[in-house]
Amino acid sequence: MDQALIDQVKGFLDPREGRRLYELALEASRMGPCLEIGGYCGKSTVWLGTACRRNGMTLYSVDHHRGSVEQQPGEPYFDPELFEPGSFRIDTFPWFRATVETAGLEDTVVPVVCASRLAARHWKTPLALIFIDGSHDFESVEEDFRLWSRHLVTGGYLLLHDVFKDPAKGGQGPYLVYRNAVSLGIYHVLPMTGCLGVLRRKA
Ligand code: MG
Repeated sequence: MDQALIDQVKGFLDPREGRRLYELALEASRMGPCLEIGGYCGKSTVWLGTACRRNGMTLYSVDHHRGSVEQQPGEPYFDPELFEPGSFRIDTFPWFRATVETAGLEDTVVPVVCASRLAARHWKTPLALIFIDGSHDFESVEEDFRLWSRHLVTGGYLLLHDVFKDPAKGGQGPYLVYRNAVSLGIYHVLPMTGCLGVLRRKA
């Protein structure tokens, strides 16, 4: 793993969480392809994709690359470098593509550049790992969970980023979806790393 490369990619994933993503994807990608929602500039993509590459497996990375609500101009996570003056919109896809190229993942990562619900519309492929890190409001996280979790194989991993039990530490969308998922009783609940929730589909 090229930590120097990962450190220079924009993103909100701490190295311990990234390492855990890598380890889980290394195990999952022996069972089937993996999928992330919210690739942004590709930081999580490098961790997950590098693991998938080791097993000759595929990582699908779903993101419309127009930034989430909190990344728009005037919002707390706005980054002027990602702003296209011409279209007056965020575009993270050039950054994402550069990351994938630099990391040598062009034969591993399939960028799916559209909204999650459109990508899910006719999806049929069983998935061994699903990493949900798209828009963080409850409705969006819940929709991502509902649309994608049905494709998770037995023994597959369902991962949620930015799970904060304490509202003072972060928004509650991912936490509420995590808590609802746990209450279904169909997942083994594994220890979290940082704010990365880790569930494993039971038989
Ligand atoms: Mg996140």
